[in-house]
Amino acid sequence: MAKSWSTPPGEALRVVPGFDLATADLAATPGWEHSESAADKRLRKDGEHLGEAQERLFAHGRTGGKRSVLLVLQGMDTAGKGGIVRHVLGLVDPQGVELHSFGVPTEKERSQPFLQRIREALPDGGRIGVFDRSHYEDVLVVRVNEVVPREVWEPRFDEINAFEREVTESGTVIVKVALLVSAAEQKARLRERLERPDKYWKYNPGDVDERVKWTRYQEAYQAVFDRTSTDVAPWYAVPADNKWFARLAVGRLLRDAVEGLHLGWPAPDFDVEAEMARLDAQPF
Ligand code: AMP
Ligand code: MG
Repeated sequence: MAKSWSTPPGEALRVVPGFDLATADLAATPGWEHSESAADKRLRKDGEHLGEAQERLFAHGRTGGKRSVLLVLQGMDTAGKGGIVRHVLGLVDPQGVELHSFGVPTEKERSQPFLQRIREALPDGGRIGVFDRSHYEDVLVVRVNEVVPREVWEPRFDEINAFEREVTESGTVIVKVALLVSAAEQKARLRERLERPDKYWKYNPGDVDERVKWTRYQEAYQAVFDRTSTDVAPWYAVPADNKWFARLAVGRLLRDAVEGLHLGWPAPDFDVEAEMARLDAQPF
């Protein structure tokens, strides 16, 4: 038997009023009182359940269903967004996953409302959508680097809440995950990228420039939590200094989201008995 959570992450990690990023222990494993190896077993087991629920979701989409799940991943460089995609989304059938990474907007994207490229990337019915970065960059990096003035980014919190409500009402369950890495752990991870030729490709000299603004990023993330952790689309603050814990937690959050749709297998739109008879009547 795989070991279990003492408090599931949907409860243990949910951002509620009063959450304070500055004092959060990012090496902690809230709700999980077992070892890393027990976590690996748990994640594999959750992956099996997630895989089954995802197949039902996919079948639902194939038969015209409109429900979907959207996993929004935010975090500083090296927080482990890519690892979540590999280790958690890697547990399900890739056909059912729509992954979108959001980088610096193109010129065309900059000329459009900031939510436009996000709307275009929303998952189709039956899919699990994954955003590697998201519309939240428009109140994070944009705020910290003063890409636009406060009068422009400030109203975006309300716009985001209205947008997420609309998306939820159209049948998409949104799971917002902030992977929270400490400054010391980020430094160690960036250092590793410089020490290993197989990691150079992940290194971007600009990451060190962003690092200087750590405190301002913390403030920007705190504002995101304060303003956009809503009942329809709450944030989950996932301590990510232990990669294994972050993967375990997101695996469970995703499993709960997909299973929480309570989808059965689609009913046939044909006569099963008649089809059986037709098949059996064929000579080969
Ligand atoms: P990476 O995720 O490492 O591929 O980097 C993508 C980069 O794009 C990050 O530095 C983000 O901060 C940046 N980025 C993403 N969205 C936006 C945005 N809306 N405005 C400005 N920069 C962005
Ligand atoms: Mg990067």
